[in-house]
Amino acid sequence: MNDRSSPVIVWFREDLRLADNPALHAARQTGQPLICIYIFDDESHALRAPGGATKWWLHGALKTLGESLRKHGGALHILRGATQSLIEELIVAGHASAIFWNRRYDEAGRTIDTAIKSTLKERGIAAESFNANLLHEPWTIARKTNAPFKVFTPFWRALRAKGEPDAPLAAPRTFSFHDLPKSIEPVALADLHLEPHKPDWAGGLREAWTPGEAGAHAALKHFLKSGLPNYAEARDRPDKPATSRLSSFLHFGHISPRQVWHAAQAAMMSGTSKASSTDLDKFFSELGWREFSYHLLFHHPDLATTNFQNRFDALTWRHDAKASRAWQRGLTGYPIVDAGMRELWTTGWMHNRVRMVTASFLIKHLLIDWREGERWFWDMLVDADAANNAVSWQWVAGSGADAAPYFRIFNPVLQGERFDPDGAYVRRFIPELARLPAALIHKPWKATQDQLAAAGVRLGQTYPQPIVEHDFARKRALAAFETTR
Ligand code: FAD
Repeated sequence: MNDRSSPVIVWFREDLRLADNPALHAARQTGQPLICIYIFDDESHALRAPGGATKWWLHGALKTLGESLRKHGGALHILRGATQSLIEELIVAGHASAIFWNRRYDEAGRTIDTAIKSTLKERGIAAESFNANLLHEPWTIARKTNAPFKVFTPFWRALRAKGEPDAPLAAPRTFSFHDLPKSIEPVALADLHLEPHKPDWAGGLREAWTPGEAGAHAALKHFLKSGLPNYAEARDRPDKPATSRLSSFLHFGHISPRQVWHAAQAAMMSGTSKASSTDLDKFFSELGWREFSYHLLFHHPDLATTNFQNRFDALTWRHDAKASRAWQRGLTGYPIVDAGMRELWTTGWMHNRVRMVTASFLIKHLLIDWREGERWFWDMLVDADAANNAVSWQWVAGSGADAAPYFRIFNPVLQGERFDPDGAYVRRFIPELARLPAALIHKPWKATQDQLAAAGVRLGQTYPQPIVEHDFARKRALAAFETTR
């Protein structure tokens, strides 16, 4: 059956939105009724299992997308199991003539998608894929030699030279849906158990975030008005709400980079945003780092586990479970590091500058393998992203493409004093230090007993002494990293 009454399947993945969704748009244009699905695949073991914070977000994301489709008279059918066999069963049972999806860029996902495409093609079923989540896909940008880029600036220049990204597609107003065939059993969202129970650690996440398309547009609107003006100067300040906080919305595809790009440009042109062209360029170049990370992941699929520069394989890492735990819990004795790790613990997100400082502390001060940090962030971040997380961790370690030089070792005290000068960020996440004066808040061990007593701090009891001394750690890291030269 391949007539106008046979259904087409729209397979949602990391594109959980109705607007600017090319797969959904193309499926609708067939004029055939749609079966909208999401597959929770915990059987294809090559796929990296989602972390705890990702699962929490996914629950909200699927719920809101389901509600949006229901408003139009449809549903999001959630299936659970091995992707390929589920799709093949659904196509046969539903007499579907085609399946549409938006592309992903991790190797395990791509392997599954390619296998599905070729099996369906043999059976005369159309499987069409689209670009929903990048300004330009990784293989469309290459050096003159055709080799992939390894350095951000020429990559970004090449991307900009391609011209403006396509204008986003509007959300469809009307749909025609088809029921899920009776023989296919959907699962209820609650039965995926994505939300934590006993203990329910997600209270802080719930307070901080509203997963879904509406939440994404609210965050964007707020940012364009109050964050984009002065973004270039203030984006490094964790004490100010200066950045967009769009990363998880982009990761789950509640909003597309094309939408963000064009909305930012329009806000500036119309005067809704009082940003300068420097602010806009800086913001676009951060979206550019996201594109670059996907470019790297596509060409080097094992970035989360393997040094991009293999000379870093020579490094001997320390195994120190106690130090590692102190880092995870925000108990290193360095306030800016601890504030960051507690922001992550409580809200599932951390400011970019502080991500760099905390990652550097684990890798350089504690000499603990960057992969351990990558895994912790993967579990804890609501924006945990295969490309951005791996590339950023390798950037800090110095082992990545276009990475920070290995001898750059952040001094956590100076970083704190420079980027959180009044200590407002530290006070927010480390209440036990809140009464220390700004001059001491990033180095409480320099305070006199009287100063500590006045602030109600008992070092070693209410807040730890530094777990490692900075100068010692710096020299130890330099000696260890010498082996990578
Ligand atoms: P904004 O400053 O408003 O930037 C806009 C968007 O650009 C972001 O939403 C994000 O999509 C993208 N972006 C910004 N900076 C970067 C960057 N350095 N690399 C890639 N994309 C960027 N980002 C993730 O999305 N997921 C991760 O798992 C992740 N892990 C990181 C781990 C470490 C150790 C470090 C140093 C950075 C990591 N980042 C990650 C990058 C960056 O910290 C976040 O994207 C950013 O803090 C998100 O906040 P925002 O949306 O307010 O950013």
